[in-house]
Amino acid sequence: MVIKIEVKDVRVYYKSIKALDGVSLSVRNGEILSILGPNGSGKSTLLKVINGVLRPRYGAVYLDQRYLGSLPPREIAKKMSFVPQGLHAYGMLTVYDFVMTGRKPFISFVPSKIDEEKVYEALKTVEAIDLAERTLEELSGGELQRAIIARALAGEPEVLLLDEPTSNLDLKYQVELQEIIKGLRAKGLVIILATHDLTLAYRISDKALMLNCGKVFAAGKPDEVLTPECIQKVYGIKPLIIAEHKIIIPKELP
Ligand code: ADP
Ligand code: MG
Repeated sequence: MVIKIEVKDVRVYYKSIKALDGVSLSVRNGEILSILGPNGSGKSTLLKVINGVLRPRYGAVYLDQRYLGSLPPREIAKKMSFVPQGLHAYGMLTVYDFVMTGRKPFISFVPSKIDEEKVYEALKTVEAIDLAERTLEELSGGELQRAIIARALAGEPEVLLLDEPTSNLDLKYQVELQEIIKGLRAKGLVIILATHDLTLAYRISDKALMLNCGKVFAAGKPDEVLTPECIQKVYGIKPLIIAEHKIIIPKELP
């Protein structure tokens, strides 16, 4: 398998705040990478760098071995979709029209029959066909999250970036989302998700990257990264890890 995304020694500053400090990673087709770490550790910043919306001050990102900084935004958008942590400005759109905005890199004039089909396919994947005619402001948090994921899928991305995808979801849909993500992996997509949900990361990822204050604290297979020592050092809590069921929950303060 070829390397799809490569991040090399990336450093990002917001004015004088160092948000990422020497972060490197690589992901291949059909792999799920979880980016972990406490609030403010740089997870969302790293997703934005991979997506090309933020330029690192040092270091580089490569998509299909090509330097991301040299690719036109439309070309990046055709290959990569980003599911942000929340959305506000779209309230009056219907779910259908909103998901259609995910076809934007492919539409030159007006949406075609194919665009329409891709929108329905994406809605079907997240089981949201019934929501198509509703406006976004009429959705619950979990329904909105599904619409946002459908928009990302409508562009048939090769790389899917998800920022805290389970934060608004009820228990059943959390499990359904795991299955959707695994199904996308089976199709060969690269999936990179930033999450607080250590159980989700433990269960579905092929690789995990633990950030702490913008630096890579640990990287490797999930069970190499999600050790009691690592979790305690980075999150400042003692975890309870039930390996048999791949469950990680906070237990007590050290
Ligand atoms: P995480 O997603 O892990 O919570 P972020 O990537 O959002 O972390 O943030 C990393 C650090 O960068 C934090 O210290 C945060 O306060 C800071 N930061 C994030 N976005 C901005 C911004 N637009 N301007 C200034 N500082 C920012
Ligand atoms: Mg974040």
